[in-house]
Amino acid sequence: MTPANDAPAKPPVIAIDGPGASGKTTVGLGLARRLDYRFIDTGVMYRAVTVLALEQDVGLDDGPELTRLVQGISITFGEQASPETPPKPFVDGRDFSTLVHEHKIDRAVSRVSAVAGVRTALVALQRRMAEQGGVVMVGRDIGTVVLPKADLKVFLEASAEVRARRRHRERSGSSSFDRVLADLQRRDRIDSQREISPLVPAADARRVDTGQRTVEQVIDTICKLLDAG
Ligand code: C5P
Repeated sequence: MTPANDAPAKPPVIAIDGPGASGKTTVGLGLARRLDYRFIDTGVMYRAVTVLALEQDVGLDDGPELTRLVQGISITFGEQASPETPPKPFVDGRDFSTLVHEHKIDRAVSRVSAVAGVRTALVALQRRMAEQGGVVMVGRDIGTVVLPKADLKVFLEASAEVRARRRHRERSGSSSFDRVLADLQRRDRIDSQREISPLVPAADARRVDTGQRTVEQVIDTICKLLDAG
């Protein structure tokens, strides 16, 4: 039998948190690609539950119904089609990759993600997804709640204006800049002020400003932090 302390070391787990459009997906995906790790976007999981809640007319503040909903479904990620594209989310085998990014989901998701039963179910699933290591997981509470023992915790920051400009560009101008900014600020407020797992940097998170840096520079900074242990 192999003694426990001779067991091969698990590849690192990297937690990246930050507000909406702070660069988590782009940076996390690029970092996972560089390290050959798996990329898991937990925001997509809260979005997927929100899509179902709207489809099934479940009240966005109806905790017991939303909890029942999340407990009865299977959320999985497919293989990455290419290193540049995030893995597609599937709910009970249905491809949700387009649905999760609709504007109405942006507006509704923070109410669903504030429900304790939804968080408990998704956090358990996220922990299982990270068990084997070699994972870059992005979200709001990864360093504080989901993976408090992550090998590296990063908190990405950028001003609301910079973030809104990025999101406005991503959505090809389908909403006005002012509306995108107002939505982001509203979501930041709900996510930071909620009682359960609010958006805050973990005490031991390394804060990285993405406003004045290119994606590659941010990834370089994170790799250096990882190497420095
Ligand atoms: O990162 P993204 O904008 O896709 O996240 C959508 C929403 O999901 C956030 O505004 C937040 O309400 C919720 N979320 C969360 N905890 C996470 C990831 C996302 O509450 N770990």
